[in-house]
Amino acid sequence: MLKGVHFLLTYRCDLECDHCFVWSSPKAKGVFTMERINNILTESKKLGTVETVSIEGGEPFLYYPIMVKTARRAMELGFRVEILSNCYWATCVEDAQEWLIPFAEAKNVELTLSSDLYHGEKWATEEVKNAARAAKALNLKSDILAVKYPLAEIPCPSEIEGAKVGLWDLAYRGRAFSKFTEKASKKNWSEFTKCPFEDFTHQQRVHVDPFGYVHVCQGISIGNAWEKPFSRVISEYNPYENPILEPLARGGPVALVEKFNLPHDEVYADACHLCYAARLSLRHRFSSILGPDQMYGELEQ
Ligand code: SF4
Repeated sequence: MLKGVHFLLTYRCDLECDHCFVWSSPKAKGVFTMERINNILTESKKLGTVETVSIEGGEPFLYYPIMVKTARRAMELGFRVEILSNCYWATCVEDAQEWLIPFAEAKNVELTLSSDLYHGEKWATEEVKNAARAAKALNLKSDILAVKYPLAEIPCPSEIEGAKVGLWDLAYRGRAFSKFTEKASKKNWSEFTKCPFEDFTHQQRVHVDPFGYVHVCQGISIGNAWEKPFSRVISEYNPYENPILEPLARGGPVALVEKFNLPHDEVYADACHLCYAARLSLRHRFSSILGPDQMYGELEQ
């Protein structure tokens, strides 16, 4: 039962982090229009199961008026709203409050702030500290999303300016696949028999991008919302009828490799490393599922 719809509001970002799943960068193309956002929100309401709308990217604050309008419309429809940002806009606490005022005191808006050694030279970037203090002053709930850094010398703090830090493992897909796998410690490929992050048989969330792709993991699409209504993409979803998801649901990346008899190395950094490598070799056969090009870094060449 689908509970969360994540808008990839734009693939564009002011940064180009080495671990980014979706290959965001200042050069990236693709931005939602308000008309298409309203379409997805209305379709999500129709499903009757969706509770949370997340607004992320890329960096959603780059399209600030559209982001604010999306959040307001989602709240009007009764959804809880989450916004994910790297806080490039929080130049000082007072100015950060100005950016956050539209969400102040809203009981059903939550900020997630990205802060780690990919986003700055310290675990706590100055901008995230400013944003966390501004959110606190406005009584707005915020927490921090950090990703483990392979060679970090200083441990990640458990909170930043009173906001709790959630520390996630680095997943070796997207840009991290090309940047970090060479030096990572590795395990035998046959160990990766389960997707560690998604349960495709009980899909609880999807990401929708500006090109209409509906992703169950970034870069694995179950339909295009500009070709078929989003509510139908979701209600007709069956992982066992999808040639990529069927093996992934049955036996993780190992089953995907075995089903298509793909050549592979003996060792991989994690399940996502093996999965992403397999998908790269399959994507020209299954381009409507394994897309768009952005999710495979092909616009960066
Ligand atoms: S194993 Fe594959 S499907 Fe699962 S999260 Fe990693 S990249 Fe996505």
